[in-house]
Amino acid sequence: MLFQSRGVFALGLRMCSTHVAKGPDMSEFRKVFSKAKHIVIITGAGVSAESGVPTFRGENEKWRKWQSQDLATPEAFSRTPSRVWEFYHYRRELALNKKPNTAHLAIAECEARLRKQGRSVVVITQCTDDLHRQAGSKHVLKIHGSLMETRCVNCGHVTMNKRSPICAALKGKGSPDPDVADAQIPVDKLPRYDQCQLILIMLMVSSTSLSKKRQG
Ligand SMILES: [Zn+2]
Repeated sequence: MLFQSRGVFALGLRMCSTHVAKGPDMSEFRKVFSKAKHIVIITGAGVSAESGVPTFRGENEKWRKWQSQDLATPEAFSRTPSRVWEFYHYRRELALNKKPNTAHLAIAECEARLRKQGRSVVVITQCTDDLHRQAGSKHVLKIHGSLMETRCVNCGHVTMNKRSPICAALKGKGSPDPDVADAQIPVDKLPRYDQCQLILIMLMVSSTSLSKKRQG
């Protein structure tokens, strides 16, 4: 089983949270941690907030008049690809030039150190930026996908893409202002994968759409 103990699980929580009022029992934690061979570190949006990546919660939850989770679905993409691309373009541009902070670096250092001891570390993250990888983490599972990776809707080809803007038609688009109208960019001007000439979609599934599927 991947999760060795609640103590190991707590490492991720403690590193990420700026609101740890009462920490876990660290001596007990160290004891468990020293014996663990497979360690999972779980991070949420808070770990990248320190780097300046917005959490898209609270007042940032809406983009124009839509909830983020209503746009981050394959269904929304097939209905209104231009609007969904504007939304992702906005989020990509906010995350593109951010740098890993001390939490990302500590997690990567932990992985490197334990690897030399024959122990493995996996980071499971809700973050859609690239900061864990930039910090040096090798094993990162992104449960909400990645803003910097694109997938061809035809052949499934996945590639890292950090172009800014990702295509000419999106330059200057994507304002979250509710009074801004959709750019209504034609499909053939949206981002494409050269070999297939088909539009790309981010590897992104919102937690809400996942939970809807589970309920269905
Ligand atoms: Zn393709």
